Amino acid sequence: MNGKWLLRIEDIDPPREQAGADELIKDALIAHGLLWDEDVIYQHNSHERYEQALTWLRANGHCYFCQCTRKQRLANPKGQSCACAQLALNPQGCATVLRNTDAVHEIDDLALGRVSFDEQCKDDFILRRKDGLYAYQLAVVIDDIDSGVTEVVRGADILPATAYQLALYNLFKQPAPVYVHLPLVMGDNGQKLSKQNHAPALNNEHATDNLCAALETLGLRVPSYLNNALVPDILDFAVHNWSVALIADNGHAFDNRIDA
Ligand SMILES: [Zn+2]
Repeated sequence: MNGKWLLRIEDIDPPREQAGADELIKDALIAHGLLWDEDVIYQHNSHERYEQALTWLRANGHCYFCQCTRKQRLANPKGQSCACAQLALNPQGCATVLRNTDAVHEIDDLALGRVSFDEQCKDDFILRRKDGLYAYQLAVVIDDIDSGVTEVVRGADILPATAYQLALYNLFKQPAPVYVHLPLVMGDNGQKLSKQNHAPALNNEHATDNLCAALETLGLRVPSYLNNALVPDILDFAVHNWSVALIADNGHAFDNRIDA
C-alpha cells in the first residue's frame, strides 16, 4: 500500500504479561526481515489518552458503571443492558461499560467479504475493567485513530471484536480502517498456533523456510528459483506477487500447518 507499517506492543494487561516478550517479538520480526517504520508504540504509555476518551464517552451519556461479576454478565440476556445501567453506581469497584445503542451488524472484509455478526454484537461491552485496566476494544481503537491507521490485517479470531470497535469509531465520528481478517493456521490438535496452546515459538534460524511456508499458506506458491534466496529477496517477491485475492479465493480451506 506504500504506507507505513507500525509496530505496537499491546501491553495493557500487566498481570498476564511475560517479561521480555516484547524483545522476543522484535527479534523474530527482525530475523524475518519485517522491519517496522517509526518508534515502537507501547500501550502502557497511552493511559492518559484512554482516560480522556472515557471521560468524553461518560460525559455524553454513552457509559454506565457496572458491578456485575463476569458470571452475571454472561448470564445477562443477549443485547440487553444489565440492571446496573439504570443505577447511578459509584465508579469505585465498578467496570465502565459502553451502552451499545447503535450496534454495528456487518462489515465488508477484504478477505472474507460481507460478514454479518451474531446477536452478541448488540451487547454492551466493558471499556475499563473493575481492576482499573483498560479493555482491548478501547485501547486498540484510540491507538489506531491516533496513529492514523487505515488498514488492519489480523487473525479471524478477533473478528467478533470488530463489531464493538466499529461501534466506538462511530461514536468518535472517525473513519474506520479497512479490515482483512485472515483465517487461522491450526495445529494438528485443531487449535490455533499460540502461546496459550503451547505451540512452539518460531525458530528465527529458519527465517527463509518460515517465510516460504507462510506465503504458501497465504495462497502464494514460492518458485523454486527462490529455494536458496535470502530473506529480503523472498519478501520482495511476496510484495510484488501476493494479493488479498489469493486469500479470498481459498481462504476457507486454511488447514495448512506451518512447521516452526
Ligand atoms: Zn452490571
